Amino acid sequence: MHTDPVPRKASEKEEYQRSDSMAEIALPPAEPIRALALTLKEALVAEDKKAVRAACAKMLEVLAQFYGVEPPDIKILNARPLKTSEKWIVETFGDYSPDTARIRLWMRTAVQKKATSYGVMLNTLVHEFFHHLDMVSLNLPETYHTRGFYERVGLLYHHIQDTPVKKIVWRSQSDGTYHVDWGKTMSRSSGK
Ligand SMILES: [Zn+2]
Repeated sequence: MHTDPVPRKASEKEEYQRSDSMAEIALPPAEPIRALALTLKEALVAEDKKAVRAACAKMLEVLAQFYGVEPPDIKILNARPLKTSEKWIVETFGDYSPDTARIRLWMRTAVQKKATSYGVMLNTLVHEFFHHLDMVSLNLPETYHTRGFYERVGLLYHHIQDTPVKKIVWRSQSDGTYHVDWGKTMSRSSGK
């Protein structure tokens, strides 16, 4: 996990810094989002694509209502498509199209066709939803991957999972970006 390069243009740099320093975000009530997440978990274990889609759509609806935005569209694919013509912000297990406000998640990895785990899918769903929120509500049109972006994702992800938030330990790079120091992040969260 690493942050995007810092843009040079002043207006983009201003947006980047705003996103970077926004480490907090309001969190929705524990229910029904946690119960819905369990529905997603069961659907994923059963490899029931329709049920996975239904659970994701319902979660996005609840999140969108809480944050006061239109829910993004959701599509579940078996595996990552190789080519697309639209502009997408691509993650390893999903993507978000700013043009159509559509999130896509895949149930299998592109190469080995291994099933996507529940934790990874939930994290990707939250990640893509926050790209949506950046663009439609937080006035962050470039929706950069900044330290703040990853921290906001982490807060909502752990809130839904009802697990302690791991305070991310960042290691600065010579080019001004940051990488997660996983060793320190994990040991700090377990109280060592
Ligand atoms: Zn992303």
